Amino acid sequence: MIKLPKRIHLANIPTRIERLDRLTKELGGPRLFIKRDDETGTEVSGNKVRKMEYIVRQALDQGCDYLITCGGIQSNHARSTAAIAAKLGMGSALILRNRGNNELDGNYFLNQLLGATIKLITPDEYKSRRMEIMRDTKLELEKEGHRPYIIPEGGSMGIGTFGYVNAMLEIQEQEKELGVHFDAIVLAVGSGGTYSGLFLANKLLKRDSTVYGINVCDDACYFKNQIANVLKDSFQYVDVELEFSKNEINILDGYVGEGYAVSRPEELRFIRYLAKLEGVILDPVYTGKAMYGLVNEIKSGNLNHHKNILFIHTGGLFGLFPKKMSIFDTKK
Ligand SMILES: *Cc1c(COP(=O)(O)O)cnc(C)c1O
Repeated sequence: MIKLPKRIHLANIPTRIERLDRLTKELGGPRLFIKRDDETGTEVSGNKVRKMEYIVRQALDQGCDYLITCGGIQSNHARSTAAIAAKLGMGSALILRNRGNNELDGNYFLNQLLGATIKLITPDEYKSRRMEIMRDTKLELEKEGHRPYIIPEGGSMGIGTFGYVNAMLEIQEQEKELGVHFDAIVLAVGSGGTYSGLFLANKLLKRDSTVYGINVCDDACYFKNQIANVLKDSFQYVDVELEFSKNEINILDGYVGEGYAVSRPEELRFIRYLAKLEGVILDPVYTGKAMYGLVNEIKSGNLNHHKNILFIHTGGLFGLFPKKMSIFDTKK
């Protein structure tokens, strides 16, 4: 048994694994399954809460009473942080990237309900100075007598990685119950922490599954570096020697489309298609693009050497609501 750092219990886990029989049949390829990490909770739904179980435990152990983080205006991670802070009686400060005309909808709306302090910054400021801005916020809060803890974008940091090591332990138990072996695991990649956790677990548990990440921003090269950095940061918490090469990090590039959080009609149509076919609702920013990518890769025959593929539904449902109109524009 591998030893993981301590966590607090925040997520509704284990999450179910469901079969996607109709989609599998339509594609005529490997058997497809979906792990419902969109059901890790209501306010905290999605993948970020798994990371937060370890991150917030560390924050509490350090005596912190405030969580500071950053993200896009519809960031699921920011909303999850605001919800967890409220649940634990902590404060939260969110530094959000603001492209102008933000509808009070989706996660941005929920952040306000949850009582987060929100600071909007421009895309340029976000790109070049978000860490500095979070540090300034920390200093201001310290002056008011708080002890803030800074969480990087997406909660992608060494300690957060263990959320998805824990998820892999869950998957192994479920493999036994279901009598299947997932030889491939596919997920959306936005800041790399979730991928890092599954990759790390694959090593720690000596599994042979291939973990494929489908990036929803930047490119494969960026994420190989980003994931390698998060992995190295996680090694301080494990007591075995691990080695990896960047070549083992599988990123299926080509599904960013028009850019982060910008949807193409074919992606929105795919969300409608899957909702009707399987009764599963994907989000436009991450899982919609990633699963659209997975289906395309299967159609192209690139994944035919796999038998059972597990897609991780990493959540993001609230991000669909600000897209209501565009979904209807692509009705046909
Ligand atoms: C953040 C997020 C991801 C990406 O996870 P990372 O660990 O940031 O790579 C995927 N799906 C959803 C819905 C997310 O909110």
